[in-house]
Amino acid sequence: MRIDLHTHTRASDGTQSPTELVHAARAAGLDVLGLTDHDTADGWDEAARAAAQVGLTLVRGMEISTRLDRWNVHLLAYLPDPTEPALAGHLTRILEGRSGRTPAIVERLVALGIDLTVEDVAAVSGDSAASGRPHVADALVAKGVVASRDEAFARYLNPGRPGHVDRYAAPLRQVLAEVTAAGGVSVIAHVWGRRSVQEPGPETLAELAGLGLAGLEVDHQDHPPAVRETLRGIARDLDLVVTGSSDHHGTGKIDHDLGCHTTAPEEYERLLERAARAAAASGRSTPGVLG
Ligand code: AMP
Ligand code: ZN
Ligand code: FE
Ligand code: FE
Repeated sequence: MRIDLHTHTRASDGTQSPTELVHAARAAGLDVLGLTDHDTADGWDEAARAAAQVGLTLVRGMEISTRLDRWNVHLLAYLPDPTEPALAGHLTRILEGRSGRTPAIVERLVALGIDLTVEDVAAVSGDSAASGRPHVADALVAKGVVASRDEAFARYLNPGRPGHVDRYAAPLRQVLAEVTAAGGVSVIAHVWGRRSVQEPGPETLAELAGLGLAGLEVDHQDHPPAVRETLRGIARDLDLVVTGSSDHHGTGKIDHDLGCHTTAPEEYERLLERAARAAAASGRSTPGVLG
C-alpha cells in the first residue's frame, strides 16, 4: 500500500485542481492520498468525488499556519471537522491575513520599480481560497520579472528579501486542542525543514505530545538523512506516529513528485486509530471519514 499524506491543489498554492491531483496520484500508483491545502478545506469535496471514481482513499486534511514562540510551524490536521467553531475562527483569521498581505507585498515590489498589480496576482491565483507568496511569484513569472517561483522567493519573497511581508499565524498550542476537539489528529509538517536550527527541540516536542500532538512528518524532502534519523528516534521515544509525504505542489515545487516519500501502512493505521478516538471523545468527525 502506497500512502502519501501531504499534497496541495489550486485551493491553495498547488498548480492542479483537486480532480487533477487525484488522477495524478492514481497514475503515480498511490492507494491513499492526504489532501492538505494550506488553511482550507475548499478542495475536499471535489477531491472526494474524483477519489471515489478512481478507487483511491482520500484523507481529508489541511496544513495550518501556526506560530510557536518565534517559529512558524506548519501543522497538518487530518480528519478534523472544519466547522468546529474555534478552529473555524482561526482559519478565517489566517485566510484574512493571507488576503491582506498580498496588496502589501505588491506595494513593496512596486516601490522597487516592478510593474505589478493586485489584479495580476488575482489573475494567477484564480479562485484559490488561500492566496500566498507562490501566487505573487507566479505573477512575477507571468510578467517576465523572474523565471521561476524559486527565483521569485530567492530575490523578493523570502524573509530578509525586500518583498517579504509577515502574516498572521494561529497559536500552535491552541490549534492542537482545537483539532482534537474537531475529532482530528495533528502532525507537525517538515519538522526541522527549511530552518537553520533544529526547533522545536525534543523538550518542546515532548510538551506538544502531552498537548495531543499525534505525529511528526519525518520523511520529507526538506530533511537530510541524519535529521530524519534523529526525528525518528524522538518520535519513538514520545510514541508519536511517523509520517512521510511528497508535499506535492504540482509544477509549483521541483523535486516534490507524488509518492517521493510515503507513510508506512502501520503508521497510517495508528493515525487513523488516534483520529477515531478523538472523534469518539469529541462527538465531531470529518465529513465522510474516508474516501
Ligand atoms: P505563504 O503561505 O504565502 O507564506 O508561502 C509559503 C509557501 O510557499 C509554502 O507552501 C512553501 O511551500 C512555498 N515556497 C516557499 N519557498 C518556495 C520556493 N522557493 N519555491 C516554491 N515554493 C516555495
Ligand atoms: Zn505550499
Ligand atoms: Fe509546509
Ligand atoms: Fe505543504
